[in-house]
Amino acid sequence: MDMMKKVPVREQDPAVRAANFEEVCLGYNKEEAQAEALRCLQCPKPLCVQGCPVSINIPGFIAKIKEDDIPGAYAVIGESSTLPAVCGRVCPQETQCEGRCVRGIRGEAVSIGKLERYVADTARVMGVRPEGAKEKRSQNVAVIGSGPAGLACASDLAKLGYGVTIFEALHKAGGVLSYGIPEFRLPKEKVVDREIENVKSLGVVIETNVIIGKSVTIDELMEKEGFDAVFIGSGAGLPKFMHIPGEQALGVFSANEYLTRSNLMHAYEKGSRTPIYRAKKAVVVGGGNVAMDAARTARRLGAEVHIVYRRGEEELPARREEVGHAKEEGIIFDLLNNPVEILTDENGWVNGVKCIRMELGEPDASGRRSPVAVPGSEFVIDCDCVIMSLGTSPNPLISSTTKGLDVTKRGGLVTNEENEMTTREGVFAGGDAVTGAATVILAMGAGRKAARGIDEYLRKRNA
Ligand SMILES: Cc1cc2nc3c(=O)[nH]c(=O)nc-3n(C[C@H](O)[C@H](O)[C@H](O)COP(=O)(O)OP(=O)(O)OC[C@H]3O[C@@H](n4cnc5c(N)ncnc54)[C@H](O)[C@@H]3O)c2cc1C
Repeated sequence: MDMMKKVPVREQDPAVRAANFEEVCLGYNKEEAQAEALRCLQCPKPLCVQGCPVSINIPGFIAKIKEDDIPGAYAVIGESSTLPAVCGRVCPQETQCEGRCVRGIRGEAVSIGKLERYVADTARVMGVRPEGAKEKRSQNVAVIGSGPAGLACASDLAKLGYGVTIFEALHKAGGVLSYGIPEFRLPKEKVVDREIENVKSLGVVIETNVIIGKSVTIDELMEKEGFDAVFIGSGAGLPKFMHIPGEQALGVFSANEYLTRSNLMHAYEKGSRTPIYRAKKAVVVGGGNVAMDAARTARRLGAEVHIVYRRGEEELPARREEVGHAKEEGIIFDLLNNPVEILTDENGWVNGVKCIRMELGEPDASGRRSPVAVPGSEFVIDCDCVIMSLGTSPNPLISSTTKGLDVTKRGGLVTNEENEMTTREGVFAGGDAVTGAATVILAMGAGRKAARGIDEYLRKRNA
């Protein structure tokens, strides 16, 4: 075995998987996981832990894999993370834990994400569950939204003994994990539903089909329904558009709508009653994880797919693994191009995207080089579908129906950095609802921080 290289992970063949929705990555078996675990140097000052936004004791859980103690490994991860089967699959490890792994200096970093996934999946098969509260507390907390932020906050509060109810607007819990990230990357029944079951096993109640701000307000929850504190983890589900001519044409979708139809409403399945447009040639605009997911979904539904992104390969914000998988599946990357107009036929249906070529100029505030249009370089990509994947922002429904909640110019809720309390006493917030669209692990970390803040707040109030 070459200790400088990762133990390769088994994956579905690209030619086969480009036409199905089953999970692409098949994960490690016991022998592969143990071989990969042996590559961990067990550093006394582990940089990987510093690279993890929730500081999982990575050498600790890998040492347990070496001993084949999976419940032990699961317990070590559980000290810091509520959703290991999810995070093992979707975290951008290359810029976090694996990006800091000492093995990566001369060779390839330890495959920390795949090992985390192995532990979570094996623990599921063994029936291992997280440990619940030892004693109950009398206070109740309402959590708004059942995405990673809400689930993490609810779990930690339930473990501390609080009564926790999650209110979710949709008919299914999980947030983006259920409605955004596709089955071929994050299986719903085996992974997402199971991790939600773990949260419920701690005593958390999940009420679906409740839109806070419409069905009931936060003020009512606190003043009439007996909740002592509230956590808002309502995400950033409002899609952004380019505001270019033709964007209202038939055949132009937001990635959110397109993916929700496919994932949450199962439109990709034969016999589904949810309609979805099966394009011949689709243009996906954007370069993040959402763009990759929309492109790979359209490909599986039968389309030739082009990703149009205004910066270059280096700047693609999507996880490296997703970009690699998209390429293997035949997605065409038209980089350094920007749409300027969407063209339509006589029926108002999209039949092309006019783009302009871009060059990279000086770095902008984000440190990435800014794209600059090349005059006179317009050209047209023929297509019958355009999927806009330009990011999302928080929905203003909750802030506009709750007294005393301040929001930033970008629509994120203002919170106190120390404990995630908003400008309204007793109301906390975290995840995409505060930061705008970010990552699962950051949302989970914020949910956990808010749970500590809520615990402290309620203890002080009770003292
Ligand atoms: C397609 C896609 C792919 C992604 N891929 C990755 C990836 O590979 N890796 C990664 O780390 N991150 C990825 N992300 C980002 C990541 O999923 C989010 O950052 C994360 O889910 C945010 O968690 P959250 O709990 O803050 O919000 P969400 O997951 O958005 O959950 C918010 C929940 O609140 C509910 N809600 C909203 N308003 C109300 C209301 N008024 N009342 C009641 N409930 C309400 C929503 O229905 C939703 O269920 C992806 C995002 C998308 C859309």
